[in-house]
Amino acid sequence: MSEKVDNDRDLSRFRPVVTESDNVKATRFLGLCKSCGQCVEKCPVDAISWDEEELGMLGEPAITIDMDKCIGCEMCEQICPDSAIEILNRRTEAAMNQEESTEEK
Ligand code: SF4
Ligand code: SF4
Repeated sequence: MSEKVDNDRDLSRFRPVVTESDNVKATRFLGLCKSCGQCVEKCPVDAISWDEEELGMLGEPAITIDMDKCIGCEMCEQICPDSAIEILNRRTEAAMNQEESTEEK
């Protein structure tokens, strides 16, 4: 698992932090997180918890994701009202690309 600030895009004011496992890349935009807790509540594998070191936009703890637990279901991305999480599931992505290339033939 690795953790680094994503400088590829000019989104630095949203404080993006990237964590990765073999199959999932999760970007948390700490500057957008309002600490509402919806993602913490809905994650099916309890992979999301409160970050004890990073604060969100309202000065409350932001969230952190345990990439050893995360299955890349994208529920948190879909439920977050502030677009503070972006999930890339490489397995889903690869399956979709495979499907598209089969359809093109
Ligand atoms: S992608 Fe799914 S498993 Fe991973 S943190 Fe979000 S809700 Fe939890
Ligand atoms: S749902 Fe979004 S705003 Fe709410 S705690 Fe999770 S990341 Fe933060």
